[in-house]
Amino acid sequence: MGNTSSKEPGFRESVNLMFDRAVRHMNLSEGLVEKIKVANSTYTVRFGVKLRGDIRTFTGYRSVHSEHSEPVKGGIRYALSVNQNEVEALAALMTYKCALVEVPFGGSKGGLCIDPREWDQDELERITRRFAFELIKRDLINPSQNVPAPDMGTGEQEMAWIADQYHRMNTTDIDARACVTGKPLNAGGIRGRVEATGRGVQYAIRDFFRHPDDLEVAGLSKGMAGKRVIVQGLGNVGYHAAKFMQEEDECLITAVIERDGAIINEKGLDVETLFAHIKEHGGVAKYPHGKYEKDGSKVLEMECDILIPAALESVINLENADRIKTKLICEAANGPITAGGNEILRDKGVVIIPDMFANAGGVTVSYFEWVKNLSHIRFGRMQRRQEEARQEMVIEALEKMTGKSFPNELRGAFVSGADELTLVRSGLDDTMRGAYADMRQLWLDKRKDDKEMDLRTAAFMISIQRVADSYRALGL
Ligand code: NAD
Repeated sequence: MGNTSSKEPGFRESVNLMFDRAVRHMNLSEGLVEKIKVANSTYTVRFGVKLRGDIRTFTGYRSVHSEHSEPVKGGIRYALSVNQNEVEALAALMTYKCALVEVPFGGSKGGLCIDPREWDQDELERITRRFAFELIKRDLINPSQNVPAPDMGTGEQEMAWIADQYHRMNTTDIDARACVTGKPLNAGGIRGRVEATGRGVQYAIRDFFRHPDDLEVAGLSKGMAGKRVIVQGLGNVGYHAAKFMQEEDECLITAVIERDGAIINEKGLDVETLFAHIKEHGGVAKYPHGKYEKDGSKVLEMECDILIPAALESVINLENADRIKTKLICEAANGPITAGGNEILRDKGVVIIPDMFANAGGVTVSYFEWVKNLSHIRFGRMQRRQEEARQEMVIEALEKMTGKSFPNELRGAFVSGADELTLVRSGLDDTMRGAYADMRQLWLDKRKDDKEMDLRTAAFMISIQRVADSYRALGL
């Protein structure tokens, strides 16, 4: 957690304050507002696992924020800082995120108080299976009710154990694999899921750069090439976002902040070799192609064009928001800016692409994985070769009609039918563009009369309205 001041409300209160800010612009009954805002339930479990010759007790949570649409969806986090407030705040954000990007899920989140680096693979497997057992027997993991995914400290391996545990406890459930997403391919995963959240962050920033009006508000010039980017947290989300933006958009990654400090290079860091260095040495220190700074929080305040916090919540807050020197912040992490920090930044003219949109790539591709698991067939399997045969026919017809041959350099791309990865990327891109269009339209419309309107408030307004509409349709 960031160095928040004692005046600062906690993470859950911060999310609620942002929610309240949006609701003030809407016309909803007090009762309905309260219903949408509160977490429906939070389950706390304490379980023991025999490890290293003794019984160790672990505490875990699964919070369900809103069941207006089921199953509910949200990752499972492994970190020592996990607590009920955090899990509830994250579950609420999942509700709004799913509504914003129109994936048909309610919001949920889980967490286990554990530092995964303290345990070896076998131990982690036993702990994960035991935690999963506790959640499965209460339907808090279930293909039609509650579907977890990876989050901080968890990844494909934990999801594979969870899926297998569910299967062992529900041997006749033909849809067992849909009980969790973010699985490895050979356990029912989907191509493009591991990179999905980082890819979504890239698409979110690309969307922003597609609109000159939006760039003008932030005071940024056109084009992502050459823009200086600082990333906090080179984990799953931060690594993929930084890698794609460097390789495909020609951004300069001028600093990366990790647990043990930061590494700076104004000419641009090579994300791939830095990532390999972190994997090998456990941190950024001693990376040879940049200047090391032990105090990572200082680097968060360095000048850049785009700042991407991709690690923890509340890292930009009342204490340091005034010193942040960027034009655009893309919230890859959940809740990296507190409600108070948000106000200071907005008044300074910094534009914030809010978490509920910026990191929605993960849940979007999780949705595709869930659909794949329920349909029991890989996307593209039926139509790919048929599409290719049609394209070959088009080429043949064009050549016959014109007497000229089709350009060889275009042939491959023109003919090739869409495989699963292509379809996943297309679906993700479409989802991000659609949500951004909705959000920016409301933002720019409302900004004409209200300079305090920001993208986050617009995003909250859209989501809350959608959840309210579905509660109304249910007769609540
Ligand atoms: P991760 O565990 O893969 O990576 C987190 C990274 O942050 C690690 O490299 C870690 O060393 C670094 N870190 C930890 N403490 C730090 C500190 N104090 N300063 C700087 N760096 C620090 O986690 P992730 O899956 O990439 O998740 C990161 C954020 O993105 C979380 O807020 C998570 O909720 C959010 N998110 C993740 C997904 C997903 O699909 N994984 C989806 C949506 C949102």
